[in-house]
Amino acid sequence: MRILVTNDDGIYARGLWTLVAALQQVGEVVVVAPDREQSAVGTSVTLHHPLRAREIEPLVKEIKSYCVEGTPADCVILALGNLLNSGIDLVFCGINDGSNLGDDVLISGTVGAALQGYIKGIPSVALSVGALKDVHFDVAARLAAALARNFEKQALPKEILLNINLPNLPFDRIQGIEVTRLGRRSYSDAIEEGHDGKRKYYWIVRGKPEWQPEEGTDIWALTKDKISITPLHSDLTSQKALSSLKELPPALLRDLF
Ligand code: MN
Repeated sequence: MRILVTNDDGIYARGLWTLVAALQQVGEVVVVAPDREQSAVGTSVTLHHPLRAREIEPLVKEIKSYCVEGTPADCVILALGNLLNSGIDLVFCGINDGSNLGDDVLISGTVGAALQGYIKGIPSVALSVGALKDVHFDVAARLAAALARNFEKQALPKEILLNINLPNLPFDRIQGIEVTRLGRRSYSDAIEEGHDGKRKYYWIVRGKPEWQPEEGTDIWALTKDKISITPLHSDLTSQKALSSLKELPPALLRDLF
């Protein structure tokens, strides 16, 4: 089994190499990751300037590793389309420090990279731990290896994109694993204004997240000290709005003509 590992925190992030060390027990691991921190770039793909990639000395021995001057999504596109000359069976993105819950998935670079693997028909996993310091990467790495073994046994569907979040706890304090749906979480963003000497600038500063820990959601699972596994797909169509918009086209046509 050949596993592509990427992240959005940059190729030298500790979370990435903890994940690599664990997945190495299951299959051949290759790393293609951004050369710098790229958190919150979401699904962004670079189309207007060239991408450069170079092989680097891996932090885990004998792992073929490339860093890319691009986004996490660029890394997966480049890896699958050019850098790696044979098939990839599984894509892992992480381990991100900081959770990616609810509406976060829409701007998450971690999920954005995993999405590219999923679009190319490869089972893909985004992996995050809910803390920014003193992160328990070890638990997430063990989970990733267990998951990879399940993929290897073909116990899971091929067409799958999993967004996994872990509470930042040692193994013996985790209360279980839940398969969840996305919750709702919003941020009270503040806009700070400043002046750089030449021009005015604005800075978006994320406030504390507000959430509704509704039962069955990813946010709820983490508040219960449980691991959350949310299956995602790329179809953003709102089924609810589809039926409620039935009257819109005739109304528009009446107004237009
Ligand atoms: Mn990140």
